[in-house]
Parts: sequence; C-alpha cells; structure tokens
Amino acid sequence: MPEAASYFKEWSGYLKPEDVARLETAYHFSKAAHLGQFRASGEPYISHPLAVANILAQLHLDAQALTAALLHDVMEDTAVTKDEIAAQFGKPVAELVDGVSKLDRIEFETHEEAQAENFRKMLLAMARDVRVILIKLADRLHNMRTLDAVPPAKRKRVARETSDIYAPIANRLGLNALYQELDDLAFRHLYPVRYNVLFKARKAARGNRREVVGKVLEAIKKKLEHGKIEAGVQGREKHLYSIYRKMREKKLSFANVLDVFGFRIIVKDVPSCYLALGALHALYKPIPGGFKDYIAIPKANGYQSLHTKLFGPFGSPLEIQIRTQDMHKIAEAGVASHWLYKSTDASLNELQQKTHQWLQSLLEMQSGSGDSVEFLEHVKFDLFPDEVYVFTPKGRILALPRGATPVDFAYAVHTDIGNRCVAVKINEELVPLRTELRNGDRIDIVTASHAKPNPMWLNYVVTGRARAQIRHFLKTVQYEESAHLGERLLNQALGALGSGVGTLSDAQWNKLIKDSGAKSRQDILGDIGLGKRLGVVVARRLLAVGDPHTDEHKSSAPIIIRGSEGMAVQFAQCCHPIPGDPIIGLINKGQGMLIHTHDCPVIAKTRSDPDKVFDVEWAPETKKLFDVNIRIVVINQRGVLAKVAAEIAASDSNIDNVAVAPDSGDQYATMHFTLQVSNRLHLAKILRKLRSIPEVVRIARVNSGPGSSAQRRDR
Ligand code: MN
Repeated sequence: MPEAASYFKEWSGYLKPEDVARLETAYHFSKAAHLGQFRASGEPYISHPLAVANILAQLHLDAQALTAALLHDVMEDTAVTKDEIAAQFGKPVAELVDGVSKLDRIEFETHEEAQAENFRKMLLAMARDVRVILIKLADRLHNMRTLDAVPPAKRKRVARETSDIYAPIANRLGLNALYQELDDLAFRHLYPVRYNVLFKARKAARGNRREVVGKVLEAIKKKLEHGKIEAGVQGREKHLYSIYRKMREKKLSFANVLDVFGFRIIVKDVPSCYLALGALHALYKPIPGGFKDYIAIPKANGYQSLHTKLFGPFGSPLEIQIRTQDMHKIAEAGVASHWLYKSTDASLNELQQKTHQWLQSLLEMQSGSGDSVEFLEHVKFDLFPDEVYVFTPKGRILALPRGATPVDFAYAVHTDIGNRCVAVKINEELVPLRTELRNGDRIDIVTASHAKPNPMWLNYVVTGRARAQIRHFLKTVQYEESAHLGERLLNQALGALGSGVGTLSDAQWNKLIKDSGAKSRQDILGDIGLGKRLGVVVARRLLAVGDPHTDEHKSSAPIIIRGSEGMAVQFAQCCHPIPGDPIIGLINKGQGMLIHTHDCPVIAKTRSDPDKVFDVEWAPETKKLFDVNIRIVVINQRGVLAKVAAEIAASDSNIDNVAVAPDSGDQYATMHFTLQVSNRLHLAKILRKLRSIPEVVRIARVNSGPGSSAQRRDR
C-alpha cells in the first residue's frame, strides 16, 4: 500500500530507524490479522489503525504508542491475544492495546450530565497510562472523520457519545486541536442543518471581516514593534460548535457572536506577555472585566495565557490572547505536548515518570483557581485512582471507594437491596459477595425476599452507609427478638403470681412505662429479654404486689426453648446443649439468655442465683441444628477418617470441624469432631452407626471441640 509507505517515511522524521522498522512489522501483523475485514466505507480495515497511528504521529507520540495504535483493534476484532502481542511487540505495547480494548468494551447508556461526568472519570480511571486515552481519542477522531459511511442512526449515537464523553476529555487534557475537531465533527452529525448554515455563514463573514482583521493586525504589529516586543500575531476563529453554543446559551445572533474579532500574540517569555498587554491597552481601550490572567492562575488543564477584551476600532470588540511559545504548545497539544517536545528516545518508565511529573507540575500551578480541585481529582483518577466506577444493570454508573464490595454496591443502590442481597453476578458471573469491585464492572445483585444482612459483612464492607445499615438492621432484629423472649419471661413471672401478660390492662402498662422512664411496652420487654430488667420485678410492679421475698416464681411453668429465638437465646459453648439434654437458662445483663446443660460445671456457682437462672425446657420439636463435640478413638489405619466422615454424612449430619491428633505411631489414634445434630436421638443414631465401624474402639460426647485440648467430661 503506497499510503502506508508514505506514513512510514513521515514518521521517520522524528522516530529512530529501528522504531520505524518495528512499526512496519506491526503494520504487517495488523494487516494480516484484519485481512478480509472492511470498514463501512468499503476500504480494507487496516486503513483505520494506520490512520489512528498517524494522528498520534502528528503529536509525536513514542513508538510504543504508535505500535499499539496499529494493533488497537486486533484483540477485539480478531483472534489475536494479549500474550501474542506481548511476545511479538513487548509487554508495554500489549498493555496499551489491552487498555484500549477494555475501554472499547464499556458502553455508555444514559445521557444525563452527571452520568456523562462519571463515565468520563471512569475512562480516565481505567487508563493507568495516559497514552491509552490518547490512542482512544485518536481512534475516535478517525471514526468521526469517516462517519459519513455509517448508517444515520448509528452516526447520531456515535456523535452524541463524542460530544458527551470524548471531546470533553480531550478538552480536559488540554488537547485543543483534537478537542475542536472532535467537537465540530460531533456538531456536524448531530445537527447537520444547523452546522451547514453556520459553516456557510462563517465562510461568508470571512470576506467581510478580512479588511477589519487586516487593519487591526497591522495596528497591533506596529504598536509591538514600537515597544520593541518580538511577537508573532495571528487572527483566529472560533470553532463552529462553540459559536453555536454561545448563540444558544447567551441567546445571541450569529452576527453578534461573530462580531468579535480574535487575535493571538505569541512572544518569547513571560515578561514580554505583560509588556505586550500594556502596549495593547495603550492602543485600544480595554473593556472593563475583560482581563484574565491565566499565567498567574492557569486553567485546570494547564492552559496558560493572558486574555483581554478591547474596544476595537470599528465598534467591534477584540478578544486577545497573549502567551509564550511554550504556553502555546501546551495550549494546542495538552498532555501530548510532553511527547511532542521532549526527547523521544526515553525509556517507557522515564516517559511515564515525566508525564507524571508534568501532571504534578500542573497541579502545583493550580493555586486557588476554582477548577483545580476538579483537575486534581482527574489526575488522581489517572495516576492514583482511589475510586471505582461500576455499572448497575440499567447502565447507570456508581462511584464507590476503592476496595468496595458488592455489598457496598447493594446498599448504595438501595437499603432494601442491601438488606436482601444473597448473591452477586459481576459481568454475568456469580462471585462471592466479598469480591473487590473493579472499574467498569457490571454488577447484578441477586436478592431474596426473606434474606437478612449477615453480621460477617461488617468484616469487609468499606462504605459508611453499608456499615451503618447493617448495624442498624442487626440491632433492630436483636431488639425484636429480645422483646419476644422478654414477653415470655415476663409471662412466666406473672404466672407465678397468678396472672399473665394477656390479662394486663393498658392502665397497668402505662403506669409502669411512666414510673420506669421507659419509652414503650416493647422497650420494657426488650430490656427483660436482654437481662437489663428482671421479669420478676417488672411483674410485681405491674401487679403492684409488694415484697418479692418469696420463691413463687420457681414453681411457675418453664420457658420453652424452640431454638428459633435468634440472637436473644444463645447456646453455651462450654457444654453445647442439644435438645433432650436437661437445660437451664442464664440471663446476663445486656446479652440475653444463655442456655447451658443442667450439669455444666461453668455455671455451678451461678446456679443458686434465682434472679439470673430460669427454668427452661426444650420444645417437643426444634427446627435448628445444634453443635455437639465427639471424640473417637480408632485403630490407627489408613482411610479410617474417610470411613468415619462418610458414615456421619450418611446420617444427615454436618461436620463443622475436625481434628486428628498427630500420628504418634501408636496403635490407636484420637479424632475430635464438631457435628451438627437436631437432638439427642439423632446423636444416638449417629454414635450407633459409628460404633459399627470395625476400626472404632471408643466413642464419647465431650464438652470441648476439636480446637481445644481440655476435655472436661465424658459421658
Ligand atoms: Mn478503532
């Protein structure tokens, strides 16, 4: 292709011969990969990556970026993989191509202002290396230049996206030429009629303006020469979309907008800028409020210049920009000006470091200007990202702190989604809820109507909102469950006094609430359940019975334990009671009720305290599975653990924990299991089955689990 050859020749103007040779290799590689693919225009596909690389060559980008530009579509559109690119062209090039491909994969769906802003941030955040953005912008520019070939509906969508997303990014990075061209191309495809009208009007106006512009140019040049200020002076034109926006926003006619003459003065150093400004203000009267010093306070994207507005000689205002050559380069090429004007043979690391420094130095220039915070954020997104941007299933973008999990996401969407989330799909794949979110992830939370927040979530959520909501939920639930238990405890105490909760009047309750300073009936019941108030005392006050020195409540009916009381009733870890075991309940202040076995040595001392100990009984049926520890002594043989485990599993039990004593070479080995059983009958059935294994010598239920060495009690 003769076109390619002429590009290579042009690029060799600033690249080393070996770099150009490598680019030729990349060109042939890409051409082969895209073979048989065509653009909408009918041209072979390779014409596109070649043109993209050439746009970047105009900005004098390094050879790696140009190589990546030549290959930028092969991963998406052909069978070539990242590894192949890395093997052929090196890892940095592969990373650049991969970065561009990732940007290609995310799609912009909603068009609100805030969403567009988030999307721009996400693009910047996803591109660790600013060259990825530059390649993407060049890609978009070439696609916009050739947009006439695609169907009108798609044309509008691409143009809208360019105007919402890519042109503002180019502007923010200070890539002025790229920005104006992208913006005008978007305008042309979004509003073809308006574009044509303005295009023709501007062309016609040029003729009329030529005389005025020429005269003002002459006067300015003369004045500067007179002041011995070396300067280049040019007239300049606004780009069409900005003329249109100005007309619309300020409700001006085309003539009004165009009735301003723009000039640019480029001088050799900063003092000359101010000298030139003084000279111009002596030539034409300045318009009050029209002066801006972007040298002292640069714009967010690093732009520096002096701006002033003057009353022109023919009644039209003049807009003047004054800047140095260096400032002009930055104004035109922005971020890319680094590659354009610095040495081109630096290594990648050095390049990245220089870019980093360049952006840093921009930051340092942002003293007090309103936009600086915004720009700081963008540079941060680019170089030290501390936020992630993810999609909802509807294509909305949410910003979350780095390290956020699907649970954080769920609570960010809605409290109900958070409280009911059970699973998550990220990019269509089921993953654990604690998975860290990454930029561009599409998150789909699976909810279940009866699901509840898991206290474990608190270990990994990072947003304050999720944390607060989970805590709030758990507290509410615990309180409700405690109130439930409290009511039963109170009923027991009332029963001992010949009364019951059902027979109490509102008056009795209201008096108690008032006297005790509680908020509500529920409040008092919750306190009883948590052990903060004593059921017996509350019962006596409700019934206005005096001295509590009787042991009547001992004779009252026991509290029934169903295992479904939730957090209000816990089962002691020291003795692991299971249904069928004789049990007693112990109330600890603020902790609710703890169930122990009747003979648990841990509570031996507390047993005699009637204010703390309650008669409890198992319900005939319990739904929960309870932990129980067993110890098995077996003949030390291979495969015996598997036999035991299989037998346990076959008995509808779960093994929660297992520990086998280190092999001492003895004839016998001891194994500890924590099993889950529904009751003593279930346990007995399991033990019977285990005893039938020939290798099992002895088997016993014990207090402590596999993690502990203290075996207090055999049964
Ligand atoms: Mn492309």
